[in-house]
Amino acid sequence: MSSPYLVPVARLLRDVPSTLEVAFDAPFDEPHEFAPRAPVETDVFPEAVVNVRVRLESFIGGLRARGHVEAPWHGVCRRCSAPVLGLASVAVNERFIDERGPGDEETYLIEHDFVDLAPLAHDAILLDLPLAPLCRSDCRGLCCICGIDRNEATCECQAPLDPRWATLDGLQLANPDSEGSNEG
Ligand SMILES: [Zn+2]
Ligand SMILES: [Zn+2]
Repeated sequence: MSSPYLVPVARLLRDVPSTLEVAFDAPFDEPHEFAPRAPVETDVFPEAVVNVRVRLESFIGGLRARGHVEAPWHGVCRRCSAPVLGLASVAVNERFIDERGPGDEETYLIEHDFVDLAPLAHDAILLDLPLAPLCRSDCRGLCCICGIDRNEATCECQAPLDPRWATLDGLQLANPDSEGSNEG
């Protein structure tokens, strides 16, 4: 079982500088090798197909990977809770190196003359996911009283005076700082 994410780079590392174009489609995380994320509203299915297009360029002791990764994501609208689908399209520009030294925390490692583009694609896409997507920019959301989808229908609901505000008013009256403004 060979993964298209695993790219042999022995020749690139020997002939510096040289380049290799890499392009493939592959599941986001079919082997489930990445830790499951805590329940999140926007995510990428493990089977979702990622498009990877990067150019690997060698330098002494490493490679730079520059290009694009794209993956479809799914989520729910923050206003009306309808399902939302989108495409994350992310520019990547990362280093792979033989050994990490000081200042090399933000790099990936070359292992046994291979680079693994899966963690790179995974990290780049997850960072690009919208936290609170909208089904459309002008989504009107749900009525907070009757729950009707206000994109599809209208209702006659009037927002009542919230009893919690009355309690807050009482607290403000009891606060000596606001006494002056409440007299009169
Ligand atoms: Zn919506
Ligand atoms: Zn309503």
